[in-house]
Amino acid sequence: MTEPLRSIAQRFPGVPTVEGAGVRLRRSFSNPEVPLFDPFLLLDRFGSSNPADYLAGFPWHPHRGIETVTYVLDGRVAHGDTLGNEGVIGPGDVQWMNSGSGIIHQEMPQRTEGALSGFQLWVNLPAKEKMSTPAYRGLSAPELPTVSTDGGTAVKVVAGTYGAVVGPVQGIPVDPTYLDVSVPAGGAFDLPTPTGYTAFAHAIDGRGTFGGTDTESVESGETVLFGPGRAVTAHAGDRGFRFLLVTGRPLHEPVAWYGPIVMNTRSELVTAMQELDHGDFIHHRRPIVEG
Ligand code: MN
Repeated sequence: MTEPLRSIAQRFPGVPTVEGAGVRLRRSFSNPEVPLFDPFLLLDRFGSSNPADYLAGFPWHPHRGIETVTYVLDGRVAHGDTLGNEGVIGPGDVQWMNSGSGIIHQEMPQRTEGALSGFQLWVNLPAKEKMSTPAYRGLSAPELPTVSTDGGTAVKVVAGTYGAVVGPVQGIPVDPTYLDVSVPAGGAFDLPTPTGYTAFAHAIDGRGTFGGTDTESVESGETVLFGPGRAVTAHAGDRGFRFLLVTGRPLHEPVAWYGPIVMNTRSELVTAMQELDHGDFIHHRRPIVEG
């Protein structure tokens, strides 16, 4: 018997949140949702044409035990970290950062003429990788392949595989797929998904439906978590439908979360706090750049 198509299990409208030094953003899911999105921990969508909403940025702060994935749609975010990386993430660029045992970085949106917008996703690390050596991938827009189908759908592949195209972010422990999908008005899209993997989508623009039986549109700004099934399918409404589609292998491990640090046990959080206090949080300082 063939597994069904994935249908929507739960919808998340997003919650207005102030983060960093005073950045207004919309939080799709976070620690209250653990373990629903396992291995994904958090999705924030930032976006504003008012610099007062974002200029305060995210000054120097630590991370341990997770990967942070920043995808800028519009505008620019300057960053620097204790690995020695620094630069600017511009429109269409992705930064995939493995904090591993510890990194301290800053992420500072720059004043822009139009809007600043983008996403940050937190991807959990398996217990055995939480104290791994930090690593950093910076991918500029031209390095991220886009697949166009006969039906006019365009799929930007950051991680995972779509058709014959493999995204440039590889070797991530939870085997993620990260796609930016643009389906023209009336068009369709489908992606086979491994059994047991978590899958969710976030509607960026327009509206459309997912799955074989759902008829209620998903609107821009909504995040939907899919139930089990062999594939995610989408149909675009009359304005087209652009969405992020993310899948990954769940870890099924305990989550101990304090702010920007996500470990497995409370005592690991205490250790991290003590190391921050004592100034020995950073175990690796040399520049390491992959990809
Ligand atoms: Mn950060």
